[in-house]
Amino acid sequence: MALRLVIVGGGPAGVQAATTAARLGAEVTLVERDVVGGAAHLWDCVPSKAVIATGERLQDVAAAEALGLLVQPASVDLDALRRRVRELSERIERQNLQLLESQGVRILRGTGRLLDEHTVEVDHGGGTERLSADAIVVSTGSRPRVPEWAAPDGVRVLTTRDAYPPPELPEHLVVVGSGVTGVEFVHMFSSFGSRVTLIVSRQQVLPSKDPEVAAVLEEDFLRRGVQLLKGARATGVDQSPDGVVVRCDDGRSVTGSHCLLAIGSMPNVEGLGLESAGVELDDGWVRTLDHHMRTNVQHIYLAGDVSGKLPLSSVATMQGRKIAEHVMGLHQVDHRHLDYDKAASAIFTDPEVADVGLAEADAFAEGRKVRVTKVPFASTARALIDGDSRGFVKIVSDPATGVILGGSIVGRQAAELISVLAVAVTNGLRASDVAESIFVHPALAEALSDAAE
Ligand SMILES: Cc1cc2nc3c(=O)[nH]c(=O)nc-3n(C[C@H](O)[C@H](O)[C@H](O)COP(=O)(O)OP(=O)(O)OC[C@H]3O[C@@H](n4cnc5c(N)ncnc54)[C@H](O)[C@@H]3O)c2cc1C
Repeated sequence: MALRLVIVGGGPAGVQAATTAARLGAEVTLVERDVVGGAAHLWDCVPSKAVIATGERLQDVAAAEALGLLVQPASVDLDALRRRVRELSERIERQNLQLLESQGVRILRGTGRLLDEHTVEVDHGGGTERLSADAIVVSTGSRPRVPEWAAPDGVRVLTTRDAYPPPELPEHLVVVGSGVTGVEFVHMFSSFGSRVTLIVSRQQVLPSKDPEVAAVLEEDFLRRGVQLLKGARATGVDQSPDGVVVRCDDGRSVTGSHCLLAIGSMPNVEGLGLESAGVELDDGWVRTLDHHMRTNVQHIYLAGDVSGKLPLSSVATMQGRKIAEHVMGLHQVDHRHLDYDKAASAIFTDPEVADVGLAEADAFAEGRKVRVTKVPFASTARALIDGDSRGFVKIVSDPATGVILGGSIVGRQAAELISVLAVAVTNGLRASDVAESIFVHPALAEALSDAAE
């Protein structure tokens, strides 16, 4: 009899776990209460990048004169943009459904919860159904964290889920949170012409990133007129009939038309019945996860944001794949553990920011000897042709062996270019392996091969 796998939550983690396990011969049921494709496709990655793409085209039109074009000023049609975002989500859901159905996965619409360690109950509105499982994957994702000092209403005080786009463009948006999500929203709204103030709790935006990288982004924000309120933590948001006042712990306050909260996320574990199945929880999170993503109950796995590891869609997908392979016994044959330190990530600002592996600042903090090479995009013909020579490529390597340990890129196409370094970092390639490869000319990637020399 085929192994029965029940997956609760159909985001990138759940969909990938389902298709991989089904392909390997499991009898798979995927339980999803909302959109197959998950928050990633409904609220997070896809809609945010779609709205950012529109804002960037607007900026491109404004900059096109410098490339020899006569242009009319462009403006945004919010209704058309909203339609486009919805159609993209629908299209991606259709693609996911086709893929799952083609692999024979049963899709059950409803809310799942664990009754015990081998039973999932699904409430589909009109009744309930009980599923018996040999293994269970919980991939229920996360939702925006709402602090006790703010009450989002979706009109003036927004979470990231209210912004694709909101009914009207904010005249003055106050963004709370200067991590990855916060800076993407600053970029999104400032490219549409909204005035934006960013509350930055430390002294640099993107506090966990390379300071040189953050500096390039800050420079762009200042050029656009974004106001940076550094060293301030928001402690309250008050609403007035025509706007908001965001109060900070150092006594300063900012008055704006809207406030957007981008201060992290919370795992979706409420009502899931994890305790009934014997899974140990600590302060809302499942802390015990081995490198196969197993909880203390060995056949119950956690994948994606709910696992509390690295909250990225790409990581969720890889976790889903690794779990399915483990459930199906493949790891006894050939397996590489997922190494979160080697996951590439990108921030879709202008310029884009991307990194992978060891950062120069971390190597320095650890007292580790590294070789750091940095090449500005301005040295490539492609950047000059495109009329945008901002940013650089930085490669961190081992001075003794030449093995590439990490890298940061800031500039156009950084999210694409970082893949070269991701392959290098994951596979222990040396800088000379990159430098010996013949890259396309004229291309921004030439800065990568130069930095690898
Ligand atoms: C604004 C924003 C932008 C982002 N952009 C990017 C990006 O560009 N690139 C990137 O890699 N990451 C990005 N992320 C992160 C990414 O969205 C998440 O890491 C990803 O969605 C995690 O996937 P998941 O499968 O864990 O969960 P989700 O995508 O959250 O899916 C979980 C699913 O589980 C379902 N569910 C929950 N509870 C139940 C239940 N009890 N029964 C049935 N179904 C249930 C939900 O309806 C949902 O569909 C972004 C995040 C945010 C907030």
